[in-house]
Amino acid sequence: MYDTEENIRTLMSATGLSHEEATKKLAIRVRVTCGNSVPAIKLAEDVQRLLERTIAVAEPNEPCDVELCIQAHPVTNAPMHLSVEVSIDGIVIRNVIPGSESHSYEVDAPTDLHGLFRKAAACYIAGHVIACSVGQQADASSPFAIVPEPFVFNFAALGVTAEDLERPIQLTDTVLVGAGGVANGFLWAADELKLHGEIAIVDPKKVSAGNSNRCLYFDLGDVGRGKAELLAERVNLPGLHITPVQCDLHRHLADRPGKKATRVIVTTDSRRARRSIQGELPAEVLDASTTDISEIVVHSHSLPNEGACLSCIYAHTHDELQQDKHLAEKLGLTIEEIRTPLIDRGIATKLAANFPGVDAESIIGTSLDTFYKKQCGEGALLTKAGKQAAAPFAFISNLAGVFLALELVRFEKNKNQSSRDNYFFASPWQPPHRSLRRRRRRLPTCEFCGDPHTGKALRLLWPERYLA
Ligand SMILES: [Zn+2]
Repeated sequence: MYDTEENIRTLMSATGLSHEEATKKLAIRVRVTCGNSVPAIKLAEDVQRLLERTIAVAEPNEPCDVELCIQAHPVTNAPMHLSVEVSIDGIVIRNVIPGSESHSYEVDAPTDLHGLFRKAAACYIAGHVIACSVGQQADASSPFAIVPEPFVFNFAALGVTAEDLERPIQLTDTVLVGAGGVANGFLWAADELKLHGEIAIVDPKKVSAGNSNRCLYFDLGDVGRGKAELLAERVNLPGLHITPVQCDLHRHLADRPGKKATRVIVTTDSRRARRSIQGELPAEVLDASTTDISEIVVHSHSLPNEGACLSCIYAHTHDELQQDKHLAEKLGLTIEEIRTPLIDRGIATKLAANFPGVDAESIIGTSLDTFYKKQCGEGALLTKAGKQAAAPFAFISNLAGVFLALELVRFEKNKNQSSRDNYFFASPWQPPHRSLRRRRRRLPTCEFCGDPHTGKALRLLWPERYLA
C-alpha cells in the first residue's frame, strides 16, 4: 500500500485544484497492455511499478479510463488510448483516438534493449500517462500543461551508448548521501550497471508515510524503520557491498578511515544540506535533485577542476531565506530551528504545543520538511512557499535516480578530462535533449571555491588528505 495523500497534496500544489478535485483526478485507472517480446513485457512491468504509486493500475478484468498499449493492439474500449512504439533507438508515444482506423500499432519490438534505457523510457512513459490523463484542463502554468504529441524520446539524448553502460565500474571509498526517493531510483537504475566494490548509504532519517509515494523499495508497512538500513536489506546488487549508516554525513566521516570520503553521491532533499556536504570537501561529487514536480538537476565535479561545486550550483538564494522565514512563521519556530536538519526534542516539544494532535515523541528524528508537508495537507498552509515543499511523483524521483546512474557512467568515462559538461537540467514532462547538458563554471562568490585567480579558491584546492 502507498500513501495517496502525498500525491493529492502534490497535485493540488501544482494545479491549484481542490482536495476533492485532485483526489478525483488521481483516482483514474490505467490498464497497461503489452506485446509478447521480453523488452515489451519488462518495460510494462517497470511502467506499472512507477504508475501504481501515483494512480490506479487496472487489473486485466477491471474497467479502465486509459489504456496504455506497449508494442500491442488495444484490447479495451477505454475513452483514451496511448500507444508506445519501442525501437533500439528510442520510444514514441502517441495519443490515439479510440476506434480510429488511421493508427497502425507497431507490435514488433526489438529483441535487445539495455535495461537502463528501458528504465529511463519507463519513467517518461509513466509521466506522459499522468500528464495526458490527470493533466487535462490543467492550469496553463502547470509543469505538465503542454503535452508533446507525439512524445519522442531518443536514447542518444542521454549522452551514453549501450557499450558505455556495459563497462564495469569499481566503487571504493564512496558514500551515497540520502536514502529517499532519488536514492531509491539510483539503486533501482544501478541494477542495470556492472557495479563492483563497496558503498555506504548514509541517512539519519526513518521512513515516513509519504515516502511510499515515490520510493520503490519502501511501502507503508515500513514507516518508522531506518531508510538506509532498509535499502541495504532490500537492494541486491551482486558485486557491490552496501553498508547502511543511520546518521548524517558529517558524523559518519568522523568514523571513516582518514575522516574522508573520496566520492559522494548526493541525493538529499535540500539546498542547505548540499552546501554542508560541500563543506566536508569530498574529492568527487555526483548529485541529482528534483525541484517539486517541475525540474530535475544533475551535476558532478571532481577536484581539482574548473567546474562549479555543489555550493555554486545550490547557492544560497533570496527565495530560500524567504522560504525559511515563511516556514518559521507558519510552524512557530525560529529561523535557527528551521535550519536544524532533524527535529530534536526541543523543537518537537514546541511543535506539539503549536499543533494540537501532534505527538512530540513520534516526530523526534524526522525532518521538518516532512512535518511541514503533512501540515500543508491537513491545514491550509498551501501558499507560494508551500508549493516548494510539494513532493515529486514516483516517476520524477526515479528519473532523477536514472540520470544519476547515467552521470556515474559518464563521470567514469570522462574523469580524466579537466573540462567537460558538468551540469544537466530537464523537465520530467518533456523528452530530454543533449543541448540541456552544459558546463557550469565556478561562482566567483562561492564560499567554497570562489575565484581561482584571486586566490580565494583555496578551500577547493585538493585537500592534503587525498594526496596520501
Ligand atoms: Zn563553488
